[in-house]
Amino acid sequence: SIPRPDHDLDKPFYSRCQEPAVNQSREDAALVMLVRNWELEKALKTVHSIEKHFNKWFHYPIVFLNDVPWTDEFMERMKEAPSGEVVFDVLTPEEWSFPAGMDAEAARESIDRQGKAGILYGGLESYHHMCRFFSGKFYNVPALRPYKWYWRIEPDVEFHCAITYDPFLEMARHDKVYGFTIALTELPRTCPTLFRRISDFKEARHLPTTTLWKAMISPSWVPWPLRGMSSWLFNTGHTDRHGDSWNLCHYWSNFEIASLDFFRGKEYQELVRSLDNTGGFYHERWGDADVHSLALAMLLDARYIHHFQDIGYHHDIFTQCPVNAAGEKQLPRSESLVENQPWAPEGRHDDPNAIGCRCECDAAVRGGT
Ligand code: GDP
Ligand code: MN
Repeated sequence: SIPRPDHDLDKPFYSRCQEPAVNQSREDAALVMLVRNWELEKALKTVHSIEKHFNKWFHYPIVFLNDVPWTDEFMERMKEAPSGEVVFDVLTPEEWSFPAGMDAEAARESIDRQGKAGILYGGLESYHHMCRFFSGKFYNVPALRPYKWYWRIEPDVEFHCAITYDPFLEMARHDKVYGFTIALTELPRTCPTLFRRISDFKEARHLPTTTLWKAMISPSWVPWPLRGMSSWLFNTGHTDRHGDSWNLCHYWSNFEIASLDFFRGKEYQELVRSLDNTGGFYHERWGDADVHSLALAMLLDARYIHHFQDIGYHHDIFTQCPVNAAGEKQLPRSESLVENQPWAPEGRHDDPNAIGCRCECDAAVRGGT
């Protein structure tokens, strides 16, 4: 079994409310939201929440991305909401479409089939474009060129607690590359061959096996002389060439605070290009969260990943509730997703009201200006 990493590997950056350092210089960073015009109300809800709990002190810019032109209403109402600069950008067809050379007709048939098979979002062409976009093209969008860091937000997100320090600054200070709040297990039918593609890439490049990669893999129960055969017999695509399988764990990517430079790097971009060439973003419904997570595990060691266990976060049906008072124990691990996950979410509960979020810094929210 995989040894649990030292707790010192990754701790919250602070365990008490800080006096928000309003005058310190900012990182080259932006909050980024891809959003549809009709999601205006939910987008406003997110922006109000992140302003109230964080950005009213730090004033980071917000970059809004859309695959179609913005409505006047969206821009008019949104530009009043944040306390920092606001940018409205429209993606190019190249950033939001099938890869060059792909047979769009065949892709649409696959998408249709996935819809009929009941694969979550599998029948929505736009969802496939979205996942492909966030997997690769996102990092080289011209509107993000001035920045080194991004914080991804989405419509309909709620932050429970004050964030009284600058997470970008702390990521940089602690040599972190990727930060997350919640980790989940993927629906296996969305990505039948993704893991095999990535593990083949890893083998072809002779990339070393990191601790993070090991933590994402369940070793095959088959004795090793028979492994080649077993992977051939039982090949689901969730196994590598040796029969070891991905445990489907991934960081939920609607919250990410991460280095743009890492994802703009040669190795990551080559991986994405090779994935693109397989057509899997359309013939299957590969999620950007899985691509990010497996790539991080392949290319980085665990110490570069940060779990923002102190950020109270809610989206969709999942919530993370922190206990951020110094000396207090973390909430007990709810059903650990997979044994021995260094990043298994602490205190993940589906119902925030069931336990209540302990927000030690709420006075800062109320008192702040
Ligand atoms: P889920 O979180 O996986 O259930 O998917 P969402 O529907 O929340 O989509 C993820 C993000 O992509 C959200 O920020 C959406 O607003 C955005 N998004 C999804 N599809 C489209 C699209 O067709 N156009 C635009 N502009 N944004 C999209
Ligand atoms: Mn969402």
